[in-house]
Amino acid sequence: MKSAFIIIDGLGNIPGKSPLDEIELKNINELVKNGRAGIYYSVGKGIVPGSDIAHLYIFGYNFEHYCGRGPLEALGLGIKLQKGDIAFRTNFALIEDDVVLDRRAGRIKNEYAKELEKKINEKLSIKGYEVIFKASNEHRGVLVIRGRGLSKDITDTDPGKDGLKMQKCLPKNEGAKKTAEIVNRISKQIKEILKGEKANALLLRGAGEHKDVESFEEKHGLKAEMIAGGSLYKGVARYVSIEAKDIKGATGDINSNYKEKLKAAINAKEKNDVVFIHLKAPDNYGHDGNKEGKIKALEKIDKEIIKGIMDNFEVIVLTGDHATPWQLKRHSSHPVPLIAYGETVGKDDVKHFSELHMLKGSLGILERDELIKFVKDWINKSKKLGS
Ligand SMILES: [Zn+2]
Repeated sequence: MKSAFIIIDGLGNIPGKSPLDEIELKNINELVKNGRAGIYYSVGKGIVPGSDIAHLYIFGYNFEHYCGRGPLEALGLGIKLQKGDIAFRTNFALIEDDVVLDRRAGRIKNEYAKELEKKINEKLSIKGYEVIFKASNEHRGVLVIRGRGLSKDITDTDPGKDGLKMQKCLPKNEGAKKTAEIVNRISKQIKEILKGEKANALLLRGAGEHKDVESFEEKHGLKAEMIAGGSLYKGVARYVSIEAKDIKGATGDINSNYKEKLKAAINAKEKNDVVFIHLKAPDNYGHDGNKEGKIKALEKIDKEIIKGIMDNFEVIVLTGDHATPWQLKRHSSHPVPLIAYGETVGKDDVKHFSELHMLKGSLGILERDELIKFVKDWINKSKKLGS
């Protein structure tokens, strides 16, 4: 038996004030009527999770496995990391006398960013260390430093706001002195390399150290693949050795190519026990405070993804990584709806997909790795405890 595990980013809302109370999602309601409902707290009750942490917990890991955003983004962009690598998220910026005039450099075009990437990688050189830079979308990118004795305990060079000075990287402890010094040399060299460009500096933030973690397969005895557009989600999957292919036209927003994603999910079925499918758009609209947008995104998912999944998978789990209520424009601790559907899952009396209804479901309230453990049993892959 095979399971599709659908993660709708930012799915949850404020119960009783939810857009889900106002809409009828035809296919998702079919899952609700023929399956079991519940609530899922990915990281635990009362906690407001970031998406990266939330996914790590969905996969059955916890905070001690967390490596920071930098390495996850780097993995998501296809950089093969080694244990001890330090990775940052980066922004191309426009600076004058070290004052940041625009920390997105006018959201430069991808082709231009790629030209600058080439220049940086050709010219940047720190003796004894390998430095890898990769531009991603517009001004964004990642930088990786590889070598002995590096530390993630350093401050950002990104001041986080326009009009402030580009920061000097400082060590947070004695052991990080050398790393901070290397980062400052890198920043200086990049300024020289980019002299005269519209984007004449690279701001670094979110340093993280790549760690070796037990693979998802070793941990759960399940083979899995992740279908996602956004690099962060591919990165979290790759971090725990879940395969995440790059999918044509999968953009991580409402214009994402759902046809290709569905096709990729169905293709992934043969080789895997669990296929995770990440859908980002509802979270984006939640952050924008756009209730109508969130509704539209859910309707599109219902129409273009869910039916195809129902036709192809025996067990379907649908939930979110956290709530992003449109009223709050941020992640929150509110409950996230959970549906599980399939012969081995069973049925309950819940008929409509919304937070209030899900709270009455027979799965109750699940947290953290409890959900993946259930999935394992629903696809007949569990191991008995005792004899
Ligand atoms: Zn999220």
